Amino acid sequence: MRETHFQKMIELLALVLHCPICSAKYNAENTNVIETKAVDKGEESSMLVHTDCERCKSSVVFSISMDGPEIFSVGMVTDLTSADAARFRDANQITVDEVMEFHDFLENFDGNFEKVLR
Ligand SMILES: [Zn+2]
Repeated sequence: MRETHFQKMIELLALVLHCPICSAKYNAENTNVIETKAVDKGEESSMLVHTDCERCKSSVVFSISMDGPEIFSVGMVTDLTSADAARFRDANQITVDEVMEFHDFLENFDGNFEKVLR
């Protein structure tokens, strides 16, 4: 039941969702489901969907939640491909310490990649 449920939702959302950059309507063929979650015995479910705009070639990741007849969506423009989005969805968050460490690294980096990658 769930697969058809989500497939129907994608087809419905492709009709409703527009590209936030150029306002073109999305094509269901350019829409990939990255993750689905369904709560048993209820009508509550959520999806993470990646779309590519045919017109302006931008990509957006939508987080879509459904609770009965209500549908909520939040879109975020991204440079990730759908494969990247799937790969990074379970990645650990970057910590403040890691950002500071990289900042310090870049401040002292002399541009010699050969030395760093060895
Ligand atoms: Zn567009």
